[in-house]
Amino acid sequence: MKKKIVIVEKNNINKFYKKINWLKLQRLIGYKIYISYNNEEYSGEEKKYPEEIEVLINILKILNASTKYERLNIVYDISCDYLDNEFRNKNLCGFKNDMCECNRNKPKDKQVYSCCTGTTTRILCDKFDKKLKTCKIKSISCKLFVCPYLRFQKKIKFPIKKIPYLHYFYIIF
Ligand code: SF4
Ligand code: SF4
Repeated sequence: MKKKIVIVEKNNINKFYKKINWLKLQRLIGYKIYISYNNEEYSGEEKKYPEEIEVLINILKILNASTKYERLNIVYDISCDYLDNEFRNKNLCGFKNDMCECNRNKPKDKQVYSCCTGTTTRILCDKFDKKLKTCKIKSISCKLFVCPYLRFQKKIKFPIKKIPYLHYFYIIF
């Protein structure tokens, strides 16, 4: 397959994003997309790469997928992982003793553990794995949910433009 190589400069990584639409076209006409970073070439298949180009590597995986269906699945999976990492690594929900901050701030009779439990029904979603304390499925709509407490008290929001894979591949090509 013909190669299209984009040179990514260490001190100007963001310049790559401006080329994404053009790269989609190159892919459609049969090129495989590579980036050249620090004198190394990457196509998105590599297991090891510098941390600062992780988003670019994921974008290459999407661009170089062979079908629209495969591309859609990658966008879905990577976006879910991205949101999981944001919430988990930064503990945005402020979990302590298995209860989120929003619920800890409610009166005792209104508290549930998290938004995976219905506030009126008090039934825990059947997709929640109690042993592993995580969701058994990848539901992007759940992962995009930000409760009013986080939105208004902690000013946390996840509009599409903040998630690069959804922003650049909102319309799958
Ligand atoms: S989104 Fe809000 S209600 Fe849901 S777990 Fe996080 S802090 Fe709790
Ligand atoms: S699907 Fe998963 S994230 Fe969504 S409410 Fe159920 S357990 Fe929670």
